[in-house]
Amino acid sequence: MLSSYWIRQREYLLEISRALTAQLDLDTVLSKVLQAATELIGGQGALIALREPDGRFIIRVSRGYPPRLQEYFTRLLTDIPNQVDPFQFRIPGLETKLREIAFQTGLPFSQIVALPMRIGDELIGVLLVMRAYGTAFSMDDRRILASFADQAAIAVHNAQLYQHLAQEKRRLDAILESSADGVMILDPGQRITVFNRALAEITGWSAAEAIGRHHDEVIVWARRDTEMDLSRATAGGWPLAQRRGSKTALYVEGDLRRRTGGVVSVGITYAPLLDREGKLVNIVANVRDITRFREADRLKSTFVSVVSHELKTPVATILGYAETLARPDAAWDSETVRELAGVIQEEAQRLDRLITDLLDASRIQARALPMKEEEVDLEMLAQRVAQRFQPQTDRHEITVRFPPDFPTVRGDPLRLEQVLNNLVSNAIKYSPEGGKVRIRGHVRPDEVIVTVSDEGIGIPPTEQGRVFDPFYRVDEGPVRQAGGVGLGLYLARAIVEAHGGRIWVESEPGKGSTFAFSLPRPTYELAPAGSQVS
Ligand code: ADP
Repeated sequence: MLSSYWIRQREYLLEISRALTAQLDLDTVLSKVLQAATELIGGQGALIALREPDGRFIIRVSRGYPPRLQEYFTRLLTDIPNQVDPFQFRIPGLETKLREIAFQTGLPFSQIVALPMRIGDELIGVLLVMRAYGTAFSMDDRRILASFADQAAIAVHNAQLYQHLAQEKRRLDAILESSADGVMILDPGQRITVFNRALAEITGWSAAEAIGRHHDEVIVWARRDTEMDLSRATAGGWPLAQRRGSKTALYVEGDLRRRTGGVVSVGITYAPLLDREGKLVNIVANVRDITRFREADRLKSTFVSVVSHELKTPVATILGYAETLARPDAAWDSETVRELAGVIQEEAQRLDRLITDLLDASRIQARALPMKEEEVDLEMLAQRVAQRFQPQTDRHEITVRFPPDFPTVRGDPLRLEQVLNNLVSNAIKYSPEGGKVRIRGHVRPDEVIVTVSDEGIGIPPTEQGRVFDPFYRVDEGPVRQAGGVGLGLYLARAIVEAHGGRIWVESEPGKGSTFAFSLPRPTYELAPAGSQVS
């Protein structure tokens, strides 16, 4: 009799083990445990209750009575001792409570046994089995049930671990997705397994397209500042990590080719993830867009070179001429004095313009370029600028044409004149062969457009987007050497944008350029009909 018990118990336990490894959901496994336990020891009812974080026990699965009677059986779950030894475990007053429930529900349960479910020393639940008839539960029954209670505890533990893992994974995914830095995770073969949103934005690859590809298909360097890249550094495994036995990251910096065209400056840190034996499991790559740092760096070094060159040149000239004039051993005729003084004046003016431009540029960067708001007649400004520049050149013909209905705009007249000044002086400067310089006005329903066109050297298409950047100059050919520091168009754009307008260029190398800017037309409130202005 006992030996056949053993065999059946083993069969049941085996079946439950299989259910456990088949990763069925927790309730299915617990139901199987209950079924096996009750059948094996001749019970008619059973339940498993799990301990909640607040210490209460809640019935998770049950058999042998209708679910609507669950309330009654919940009463069995009070005064549960903190005891995990299956042979010592007793819930006080359990039999009395069962008899009351049997009486109230009309169910014939008369015997009951309770087993602790434990993980380590912690009580995580109880297994109860009830008999409708027959004898009280023996120590043997207890022994058999103890193994089922253990199985149930393992199932709960697994489920908790799994839930914990799933939650951790969700949390990690959320962190990765919302990270401002690009992140990707590679398998040991350097195939991409994770690719977050920020990285999609940086590289122009969508996650769906990038995942599954080899790292080198997606990360394509247009230019690299560091000697190593990932393939070279890892040609013989992860050399740094193996050599030093520690997690040493690899850093690569340079310009990446974007999938959608263009390049982006990035710094990528590759960190190896090793298992206990030191074998490479994953490579986690952190990609940072450093375009802005690069730009700031470029600005800083350009600023230094501009200041050293463009400011020092006029100062040197002024000093030289002033020293010449002041030589005690020379008596200069008035003609020469005027000539030398004229050069000094010219250079001082150039210096003054440059200093003003530099100050304006730094005010723009600090967003502190003051702007007046007055009624401005752009045609008048254009005429004035044309009259100022025309006497300085006999190769160029400067014309102004505005339609008669051209409206006034609101803005800062001095600043807008500065824009026209810069555009017209560039038009002259960059058309050394001469030609027409046309300033024209156009009226649109909600904006006005002013264009300045020349017949000069033009700007290559690739440079057209950048000429508005601070200190940016197209450097090719001797004409480009013409004085200037690359601030004129930057200031023009800042002024136009501060007025709510846009500025752009259309140009064909060798044929000429047309710079255009728009300004919003003011909206006037119409006085209601019949109203009187007093
Ligand atoms: P700067 O003239 O002092 O160099 P700008 O900001 O005014 O600086 O212009 C930036 C660059 O754009 C110039 O160096 C020049 O290469 C190019 N550029 C500007 N205007 C013209 C033009 N009308 N024709 C050709 N190239 C131009």
